[in-house]
Amino acid sequence: MLDKRKELVTRFLRYVAIPSQSDEKNSAVPSTPGQRTLAQLLARELKELGLSDVSVDEHSVVYGTLKANAKGPAIGFVSHLDTVDVALSPEIHPQILRYAGGDVCLNREKDLWIRVKEHPELERYKGEEIIFTDGTSVLGADNKSAMANIMTMFAVLHDDPSIKHSELHVAFVPDEEKGLCGSKIMDLGKFKVDFAYTIDSCELGEVVWETFNAGSGKLCVQGVSAHPMSAKGVMVNPLLVVHDFVAMFDRKQTPECTDGKDGYWWFQSVTSDPLNAVLGINIRDHDKQRYEWRKQVLRDNARKLQEQYPTAKIALELSDTYENIANNVTRDDPPVALLYKALEELGIKAKTYAMRGGTDGSALSARGIVTPNYFTGAHNFHSSAEFLPLSSFEKSLSVTLKLIELALES
Ligand SMILES: [Zn+2]
Repeated sequence: MLDKRKELVTRFLRYVAIPSQSDEKNSAVPSTPGQRTLAQLLARELKELGLSDVSVDEHSVVYGTLKANAKGPAIGFVSHLDTVDVALSPEIHPQILRYAGGDVCLNREKDLWIRVKEHPELERYKGEEIIFTDGTSVLGADNKSAMANIMTMFAVLHDDPSIKHSELHVAFVPDEEKGLCGSKIMDLGKFKVDFAYTIDSCELGEVVWETFNAGSGKLCVQGVSAHPMSAKGVMVNPLLVVHDFVAMFDRKQTPECTDGKDGYWWFQSVTSDPLNAVLGINIRDHDKQRYEWRKQVLRDNARKLQEQYPTAKIALELSDTYENIANNVTRDDPPVALLYKALEELGIKAKTYAMRGGTDGSALSARGIVTPNYFTGAHNFHSSAEFLPLSSFEKSLSVTLKLIELALES
C-alpha cells in the first residue's frame, strides 16, 4: 500500500524545487516561465496516474479527468501554480525538522530565526515533523501543498483501483496571487464539474466559503495647467483634486482600521504630473449590497468632485474583480455540507471564517461553479515564517479522500 506521508512529502519537495513565483509587473498569463515548467511536469504525472483528457493550454492551465467507477457528482479540485511575490527569494530551500520546542534557527549563516514570541502557534507541534523554509523565501505550501495533496489523492486511487469514486477533475491554474488570473480564464468546457474545491487556506480545520466581493477603481483627473504668474483662478492641480476626493471618504473604512466582516475602500496608488493624476482604488466587502453601495459612493463623490472643479475632466472607471462565494451558496448546499461532514467524520474541528481576500473559488463561484476552500495545514502564508506540520498536511489529504468517499450516491 502507498505510504501517503512519504508520497505527500516527496511530491511537495519536487514541486517546490521548481521556482514559480508570479510576477506582478508582467501582465501575460502565466507571468513567469517557472509556472509553464511546473504545468508540464504535472501534466506528465497526471497521465502516468491514468487520467484522461490531460492538457495544458496556452496559459499553462492544466486540466485532467479521472473517469468514474461509481455514481456520484463530478467533483473538481483546483490549486494554483504560482507562489506569491513578496520580495523574497523565488528559490525555495525547504527543510524538514523535528520540532523540539522553543525558537527555531532557520538559517545559521544568515542568522534567521522563527521565534515563539512572534509565532506561538509553533508550540502546538512540539515533537512533530515540520517543513520549514531556510528563512530566505516563502515555503510555497501556498499552494504546492494542495498540488501534492491532489496528486497524492490520484496516486492513492491509482494504487488501489477498488476505491470507489465519481468522476474527478483537476485544474492547476497560474497567477492566482495576481488577482485570480488563471481561474478567470479557465476553459470551463474542460472542467465539467458539479462543484469544486480549492485547498488554499492555512491551519488544520479551516473552512472558507465566504470571501470578499472585490473590485477595483481608477479615478483619472485631467487638471488645468498654467504658469504660476497667471495661475490664480485658472490652474487646477490634479494632485490636489485627488487629495480632495480621498478626503471625502471615512478615514476609518480602510484595511488598517477594519477586520472581521467590515469592508473598506483602499486608496492604493497615485501617479501625477502637473496636468494628469490617476488614483488606484480597491473596494472590498463581504456583503454584496454594501459592496454595491461602496461603488455607488465612489460614483457620487466623483460627480461631486466634478461639480467642485468644472474645468477639470474627471472620469471614474470601476470593475468587479471577484465575488463572495457565499453569494451563491449556503452552509446547507451540498459542496459545503459535504466538507463539514468530511471534517466531522475525521474528528477535525471546523474553523470557519470569512476570508478577507479571495481564492480561485471566488472567481469560479462567480462563474457558476460553487467552490469552497479548505485547509492545507500550513501556517503563515506569504511569509518566510511559513511552515507545514506533516500531521496537518496528512489530515488535509484525508479530507480530500473523505470528500470523494462521501460524495458517492449510497
Ligand atoms: Zn494560495
